[in-house]
Amino acid sequence: MEFEDFLQGLSSTNSVLRHQWWVRFQDAETCAKSCVEDKWEFVDITSVILTHNNLWHSDGTVEIDPGSLESGSLYHEIFHSALHKAPFKIKAEENKPNYELYVECLCNAFQYFMETSLGPSGGWVARLEDWRLKTWGELIYGSGDLPWDMTYGLPALEFIKACSRFEEFKRMFQAMNAKSSS
Ligand SMILES: [Zn+2]
Repeated sequence: MEFEDFLQGLSSTNSVLRHQWWVRFQDAETCAKSCVEDKWEFVDITSVILTHNNLWHSDGTVEIDPGSLESGSLYHEIFHSALHKAPFKIKAEENKPNYELYVECLCNAFQYFMETSLGPSGGWVARLEDWRLKTWGELIYGSGDLPWDMTYGLPALEFIKACSRFEEFKRMFQAMNAKSSS
C-alpha cells in the first residue's frame, strides 16, 4: 500500500498521528504476514479509509473510525488479512459458515500483542490485565456486554494467558493451522 492510500483524510487535522500510525501499520503488517509462513495467502491491504466503522473487507479495504486511533483497533483489522484464508478457519467454517467466534478473538489477541509492543497501550491492554486476575464467574456475571466479551474478549484472554510474547502467539497460531492442514 502507498502512503497516499492510508488514512488520507487525517492529513488536514492530524498529520503527526497519521505518520505515527503509518509506521505502526507497516510494523504490524510485517508481524501479521510472518504468521502466514507462505503456507496460505495473506490478503494484502490496499487502502485504509476513515469512516465511522472499524471493518475489514476481503478486497483489501479497511475502514477505520478516527476515534479508535486512540486504541489499537487497526491492529485487529490487520490480522483479518492473515486469517481470512487460514486453513483452520476454512476447516472450521465447513461446520459453521462465517462464524465470527473463530476469528474475532484471534484478531483481539493480535491487537493486545501489537499494543504492548508498538503502542498505544490503551484500554484493551488494561482490560485484559484486569481480566487476568478474575475468575470465570466474575468475568461472566460481571460482564456489561456478554455477546461482545464472549466473541472478542474472553477467548482472546486464553491466548494471552497461554502466550507471554508475540512470538509464542505466532507459534500457537501456526500450530493451529498445521493441524488443520493435515
Ligand atoms: Zn474483526
